[in-house]
Amino acid sequence: MTETKFVFVTGGVSSSLGKGLTASSLGRLLKSRGFRVTMVKLDPYLNVDPGTMNPGEHGEVFVTDDGGETDLDLGHYERFIDESLSRTSNSTTGSIYSTVIARERRGDYLGKTVQVIPHITDEIKERLRRAGASGADVVIVEIGGTVGDIEIVPFLEAIRQFRRDAGRGNVCYVHLTLVPYLAPSGEQKTKPTQHSVTELRSRGIQPDVIVCRSDQPISEGLKRKISLLCDVPIDAVISAIDESSIYDIPVALRREGLDNIVCATLNLDLDDHPIELSAWNEVVRRVHNTYRRVRIGVVGKYVTLPDAYLSVAEAIRHAGFALGAEVEITWLEAERVPEEISAEQLDQLDGMIIPGGFGERGIEGMIAAARIAREHQVPLLGICLGMQVMVVEYARHVLGLPDAHSTEFSVTTSAPVISLMAEQNDVVDLGGTMRLGAYPALLSEGSQVAGLYGTSVVSERHRHRYEFNLRYREQYEAHGMRCCGISPDGRLVEFVELPGHPYFVGTQAHPEFKSRPDRPHPLFAGLLSAAVTRVEGRVPHLIDPATVDVAP
Ligand code: GLN
Repeated sequence: MTETKFVFVTGGVSSSLGKGLTASSLGRLLKSRGFRVTMVKLDPYLNVDPGTMNPGEHGEVFVTDDGGETDLDLGHYERFIDESLSRTSNSTTGSIYSTVIARERRGDYLGKTVQVIPHITDEIKERLRRAGASGADVVIVEIGGTVGDIEIVPFLEAIRQFRRDAGRGNVCYVHLTLVPYLAPSGEQKTKPTQHSVTELRSRGIQPDVIVCRSDQPISEGLKRKISLLCDVPIDAVISAIDESSIYDIPVALRREGLDNIVCATLNLDLDDHPIELSAWNEVVRRVHNTYRRVRIGVVGKYVTLPDAYLSVAEAIRHAGFALGAEVEITWLEAERVPEEISAEQLDQLDGMIIPGGFGERGIEGMIAAARIAREHQVPLLGICLGMQVMVVEYARHVLGLPDAHSTEFSVTTSAPVISLMAEQNDVVDLGGTMRLGAYPALLSEGSQVAGLYGTSVVSERHRHRYEFNLRYREQYEAHGMRCCGISPDGRLVEFVELPGHPYFVGTQAHPEFKSRPDRPHPLFAGLLSAAVTRVEGRVPHLIDPATVDVAP
């Protein structure tokens, strides 16, 4: 294949229709046909990247290997197409304007008037072309927001022009809409879809495929009506009902023939690319064939919006798939521990996670939860802030440093066991920069963590400012906590564990970002395995020992 093909996924009628999952599922289907697929998310908001956005409002910030702080949809993309993406896979209006305005300040436009069309639209198109230059056969581009939004207009204009530039057979427009069921009339309604397509057409885009989201399947009659009124072939009207698991979606869309119609639009030969879905079908089989249950509590700060911990939740589920376990995730507000959520309640859990986070709210509750997990032998995985909390707790209650804290929360603590590197090196300027993206770590031979990973050099993604304070390392080791993973230069503690405890593991990294539905992350598999052991009294077997790629 010579020319790169582009699929643009837009949405109408309502937000939260699952554009990201539809796009990801299409990616999976095309990859299962042997095409090289990459994905891009265009976000119409003005933030330059999601890094500074409140996860309690916007959901998690997904971190790429190259340190991009990106939209959570990139997590779905990576989990579904099983490719590691980079920061170039996510552009916001803010980042696009920043580039154009910086260019204007440099004088690159030679005194011309700088405008949305062509300068902003050209920058959008340029970024899309660059994504295509990565060697992909197909680039799937999801446009955030909904047609009709003010912010989306430049993006629609750019993708409209894109078909002109790239050639008709190289571009496919997929539009997602909602087909509501109105109980009083007992009917599914197509009018919102018609209006949404009219809106899209008013921007010059005629969709090639319409994906109809609904709670009940769309009948043939209704498909015919949508086909007629929205001017797409009937087999390009795809019914997408709510599925019990997100991992069912690729199979459901395959049944509706989504990949066939997209490939036909893009002049991709289906006979040359038969679909091979057996690996994915195996994932689906595991999702629905569970024979044990475990309960994992997540003690965090943004638990009212589980999207804030989306990758953590998926990583827990993936580990469950590999153990035949259906996992009930209990979201626990850290601030309510231990007063309202007591030690007895936490002791009822089969396992616990303290996830990443920023800011002081809930910190004392997390420290209390870590102590309960340690003293009650509840398996615990501490992620980033979670590891820092485990380290602070251990200092306070085992090392005999009751004032111990992270300098993120106490600048006057007499025992800064977690602090900025600059503080550890007595540098006066404390402006902490974020450690972002993939970093390698060396694991200690014979440690529990090295055993789980099955290797001694691993790479994980990071997003934090504060670090384990090396000055305390010997004290920790003398009191039983093992610094079992260290950066190659020996300056950063990346993993800690507690020998003798069933599972008390902390990592400064964010392992959740690398987990895949068919290959769980070793640290999550380790936690779940310890949780099953707590319930059943013996160590379970992994159905398939394949775990995710952690090589640097
Ligand atoms: N707030 C902590 C830090 O900056 C932890 C960050 C996180 O959990 N991602 O170091």
